[in-house]
Amino acid sequence: MSSSEIARAEPRVVGVLGAGQLGRMLVEAAARLNVSVRLLDVGDSAPAKQICDVPAQAGSSARSEHIDGSFADGEKIKALANKVDIITVEIEHVDASKLQEVLDQGLVKEVHPTPATIKLIQDKFAQKDYLRNKGLPCGEFSPLPEPAQNASDTVQSQARAIEEAGDKYGYPVMIKSRTQAYDGRGNYVVKTASDASDAVNALGAGTRGLYAEKWAPFEREVAVMVVRSSTGEVRSYPAVETVHKNNICHSVFVPLRSRDARIGSRARKIAEKAVSTFSGAGVFGVELFLMGDGELRINEIAPRPHNSGHYTIEASETSQYENHLRAILGLPLGSTELKVGSAIMINLLGLADLDKDKDAIAKTYAPAVVSLNIPGTTVHLYGKSGCRKGRKMGHITIVGPSDAAVRDRLAPIQDALNTATE
Ligand code: ATP
Ligand code: MG
Ligand code: MG
Repeated sequence: MSSSEIARAEPRVVGVLGAGQLGRMLVEAAARLNVSVRLLDVGDSAPAKQICDVPAQAGSSARSEHIDGSFADGEKIKALANKVDIITVEIEHVDASKLQEVLDQGLVKEVHPTPATIKLIQDKFAQKDYLRNKGLPCGEFSPLPEPAQNASDTVQSQARAIEEAGDKYGYPVMIKSRTQAYDGRGNYVVKTASDASDAVNALGAGTRGLYAEKWAPFEREVAVMVVRSSTGEVRSYPAVETVHKNNICHSVFVPLRSRDARIGSRARKIAEKAVSTFSGAGVFGVELFLMGDGELRINEIAPRPHNSGHYTIEASETSQYENHLRAILGLPLGSTELKVGSAIMINLLGLADLDKDKDAIAKTYAPAVVSLNIPGTTVHLYGKSGCRKGRKMGHITIVGPSDAAVRDRLAPIQDALNTATE
């Protein structure tokens, strides 16, 4: 008799903190493996909940077995823990201490990755300090004063420290929020010393923990998805090139092409080494900067499936979502090899706010409409209500036998995007 999770009479139930697009694609992979999922996020219509209907048991006043609430709310995390065997995350901005507590209390058997890993990674300064201490390449960075009781005192002390960082690193200098950052929303580029207090005011006005990073004049950005099993086996996907516009991931080119083929394998080695130091299972997204001289530096790591790994659904032998589930359930990890010659992923970012522009959705989805006529192309729409400028609304993955074939397929989609953006 097999002891494999997928052959169990009573498969374990997986709880996920967050029900956005990453959760939605995780649910798609779970459905294929008969893995039941319960989601914690606000509302009944979060993207992942829309495709994972689990009606409430008889007698319950709730509408569904999912939990309606914030993934940062300790009581809601406890309510989820009471319904599931294993907990994982699709976002790192969760209450990590509560996750440790439900684990210690035996309310769930496992949390992946471990609450300690999530806690470490969710503070970007602590994460970088940790990686540097492990001997991983990170570029230079330094802390700014912690928020004091009086916010205006903090504005002054943080602004002074930014000027010191500017003196040390030169301008521009990148200022980042330590926590709660995503899509560049916690970042501020300080161009001259006179911008220092504007940066502090834009990033929490003296109420938030910040740190300074030396500007990285990178040639390109690179990402590597890595899956870590519960026994510590680590496998990386091929290195890819990511292109960001206004701090948001815009497109991903697979695999990374570079003058020196060793750059991709070096990026994978760095990413594997970093992920092998963490505890707990699952997929991690490692973002790196490739400098002009071929040097690679880690920008940051996400403890979950990642935007730069969406392409794995169509282009890889096992998607990042399936491998995340395999890892947390103790199943054998799947192959991370590409099964196509080349792939490109384009994010569909909201092009306007729906309340200001009634054509916002039509414009945003125009490239998706065009792509329906192009072979090798898959559209993913996330079911988000409304449309806001810059919001991740969907993505398109294009695969083909070669870079040339994929670029040909991209051309009409890019034209549609350019026209919609005008
Ligand atoms: P994510 O959505 O990936 O979590 P985030 O809000 O955590 O984003 P970062 O990844 O730190 O933000 O930065 C976003 C982008 O800003 C990077 O992908 C890169 O393009 C640029 N960037 C970040 N740090 C630096 C730096 N030190 N020098 C130059 N550019 C940088
Ligand atoms: Mg980040
Ligand atoms: Mg990032």
